[in-house]
Amino acid sequence: MKDALNTEYDFVIIGAGPAGLLAAVTIGLENAKRQRPYTVALLDKRDPWREPVSCAEAVSTRGLREIVPKVEPAWIREPIDGVVFISPNGTQVTFRQPGSGVLIDRALMHKNLAESAQQLGAHCHFRARATAVSRYENGRRTVKVEGEINLEIKARVVIDASGPGAGFGKGENITQGDFDVEPALFALVSGLEYPVNYIQMFFGRNYAPGGYAWLFPRDKHVANVGLVIGKKFAKEAPARKAMQDFLAKTYPGAKVENFHGGAIPCGYTQDPLAVENLFKAGDAANMVNPISRAGILEAMKGGQLAARAGMQVIELSGEPQKVPHYRAYKSGWDEAYGKANMRIHRAKAPFMDIQDATFDKAARSLAKIPPEKITMSRIFLTTLWSTPSLIWKMRSLI
Ligand SMILES: Cc1cc2nc3c(=O)[nH]c(=O)nc-3n(C[C@H](O)[C@H](O)[C@H](O)COP(=O)(O)OP(=O)(O)OC[C@H]3O[C@@H](n4cnc5c(N)ncnc54)[C@H](O)[C@@H]3O)c2cc1C
Repeated sequence: MKDALNTEYDFVIIGAGPAGLLAAVTIGLENAKRQRPYTVALLDKRDPWREPVSCAEAVSTRGLREIVPKVEPAWIREPIDGVVFISPNGTQVTFRQPGSGVLIDRALMHKNLAESAQQLGAHCHFRARATAVSRYENGRRTVKVEGEINLEIKARVVIDASGPGAGFGKGENITQGDFDVEPALFALVSGLEYPVNYIQMFFGRNYAPGGYAWLFPRDKHVANVGLVIGKKFAKEAPARKAMQDFLAKTYPGAKVENFHGGAIPCGYTQDPLAVENLFKAGDAANMVNPISRAGILEAMKGGQLAARAGMQVIELSGEPQKVPHYRAYKSGWDEAYGKANMRIHRAKAPFMDIQDATFDKAARSLAKIPPEKITMSRIFLTTLWSTPSLIWKMRSLI
């Protein structure tokens, strides 16, 4: 998409991932009710549907339907009916919850959402990189764009949905998505057999210290296999070496073309999320579950809330009048995911320090229980009981 760009917009959204797309669609839907629609430019440095999207593509079914105005059936690769947890010595524990999640085709979802944003009036221009966002001056920020076009765009509101680490607004009093950034690697793998409706998660230092390894099916033939390493272990266990070892030990028959890298900002969301008409959303604001590392729905929710708050402040001139709307954005986020993520963040350090023997002991106990009686809380509590000192350390989750 390469819509001609103007030099002035009400909203410039940087990044057309889940956060930016939902922000653009949210403003577009509001525009349908307005006499003077807001003008919106949605920028991305690449085509946001370029494969492979750096992701394992699992989301909760209910969450997706709650946030996205229209979920296309074609986005769903496979339903998820449960999780197989695998302990360091290979003991498997199956948690069944039919229909609880879906594996999605993110590339197609991004494409369809960008088309919706465009139909709702946004100018979508991809393969254009935002390289700087100026301070707020005379009611505008200036976004510098470089790439196939070079342009300076004035914006009344900027939404930074550019993922982890771009750093727009650095030096201003605003959160950054650069806190507890963890390395992740994945590969699209064929030649394996696996249950297609179950995701597999491997916990233990011999797989992925401080994080976990996974196999998430794309279909019967191709699976997304990857791992994320806890930041504090990243030096002693480089992700590429951990991935090579994991594949060699666990899936020696796998056919792997390429490894793809990623970074997951797994901290918690700091305050404020907005200042002087610059809003942060999604990974750019650390909106990621610190232990599961899920961030798709979180980014969508962040983008939606940022867009709503942006529409509230755009007509206001004084910063003090805007502050309550920035706070409402943060409290909306806290209600949706932020408070839960903070609790998980507090339990993360002890979780990362769980020893392999503890996971094995818990898995041995759970493996004796009939699968229909396994619940997530039973898995969690059995793991805690395997090392009672964990109960106190992880009390924020109880
Ligand atoms: C390997 C891996 C597996 C994952 N698996 C899952 C999973 O199974 N489930 C889940 O919920 N989450 C998962 N996540 C996390 C999830 O992918 C992210 O949290 C989510 O994509 C965040 O969305 P976002 O819109 O904030 O950022 P992004 O998806 O990163 O989108 C940002 C967009 O901004 C563009 N951009 C960046 N800089 C600029 C710039 N300067 N100018 C213009 N455009 C720019 C990028 O090209 C990109 O399209 C995974 C992450 C990784 C790395």
